Amino acid sequence: MNIPRHWIRYGAHPEKTFLKRLDKLYDGVIFHANMVAYYKKGIAGFITGPLNRKPFCIDPLTHAFGHSPIFILKSGESSEVKPAIKILSQYYGEPVERNTGIRPLDVVDFDSQRLREDFCRRIMNFEKNIITEEISENAKYVTTESQIPCLIIAPYFYMNILNYSSWRQLNLQFINISKDVERVIPVFGSLVVSKELFFDDDLRKQLLEDYSDVGCSGIFLWIASFDEHRASRSELSKYKNFIIELSNRGKKIISLYGGYFSIILLKYGLYGVTHGLGYGEERDVTPVGGGLPRVKYYFPKLHGRTFFREVAYVIRAANWKSPADFFENICDCDCCKDTIGNDVKNFSKFGSSKSGIRRDGISFEYQTSEAKTLATIHYLLNKHREFDFIDTNSKERIIEELRDSFNKHKRFFGVGEVGYLENWADALAE
Ligand SMILES: [Zn+2]
Repeated sequence: MNIPRHWIRYGAHPEKTFLKRLDKLYDGVIFHANMVAYYKKGIAGFITGPLNRKPFCIDPLTHAFGHSPIFILKSGESSEVKPAIKILSQYYGEPVERNTGIRPLDVVDFDSQRLREDFCRRIMNFEKNIITEEISENAKYVTTESQIPCLIIAPYFYMNILNYSSWRQLNLQFINISKDVERVIPVFGSLVVSKELFFDDDLRKQLLEDYSDVGCSGIFLWIASFDEHRASRSELSKYKNFIIELSNRGKKIISLYGGYFSIILLKYGLYGVTHGLGYGEERDVTPVGGGLPRVKYYFPKLHGRTFFREVAYVIRAANWKSPADFFENICDCDCCKDTIGNDVKNFSKFGSSKSGIRRDGISFEYQTSEAKTLATIHYLLNKHREFDFIDTNSKERIIEELRDSFNKHKRFFGVGEVGYLENWADALAE
């Protein structure tokens, strides 16, 4: 089975509807292990049914057990571990299970080869078999197709400047052991690091050496909180050069939580990009696995998410009165065409919200489900177009498009908001 290039990260169950309906617009789905453990019946049913044999994989999320327990406890003063993480810890066994919610795991917890091997086997066993086991227990999900993940992700722990020297070797060992154990399904490693670690020139050089030599087929790269839209030109160049060099050494690199800059890097050696449905083009490592941000309107020519109000302002400021103006200057995807129809004012459907009162008495606004649905469909249509555009155009044309868009939009949004387009172009043109 081919390993997908355009991945959607499954974030919440209502997303199933979109993933089914829009299944031509992406290649594969990546699930969080804690959700699979907790909702295995629903997810197995989804994978064998609506997902319709699309490739998938499971992020084992082992890093969750390396952070302070406060990130995996229920909110507030509770000392109880979130139920999905608790169940996952039981699948993973020792040393995870007895320490979950009590203390973060440490390298000393894996101080024998036996411990490390058993740990890797249990994690891989979970990823590989959880869905098929669920299917065989429930006759109604029986399927003739094999429902195993298209790749296995080795266990991994987050590294920052402070714990790097402790975890460095162990993270590499986990990948090498996993690769030795699993001979059939491709094994990927995960390189999950803080921004400070990644952008330290000496340490990044070491990462490059380490992950070039490690024995896996590919690597998921996650630079925590790295926001391509706010990054400096030098950070963008370092990110780009890292991808070029590591891919030159034969590794398939998939960016977790990547935006359009990462998609462009497909032209420079990056293998794939993962993002959420309408969000999740960057994120921090904590809170683990949870939290869904508001779906914004993706402004295609800015390759970024904007508040509904900002787009409404631009429509007025630029005097784009007719639907034709809207389709030419903002978006002409099928969703926008249907929504706008023959009146630009219909754009308000993307911003419709309701107000409510929280339990503590404070009022808040929330998106209507219609607005969320429209924003999500429009988002995925445009992400698909971005992949297409990158596939069918030269580097020069891609860079030119960024510069054109910057020049056109800076007068509405200001350089402080859209200057990343120029930054991206400069970093790519180097
Ligand atoms: Zn659209």
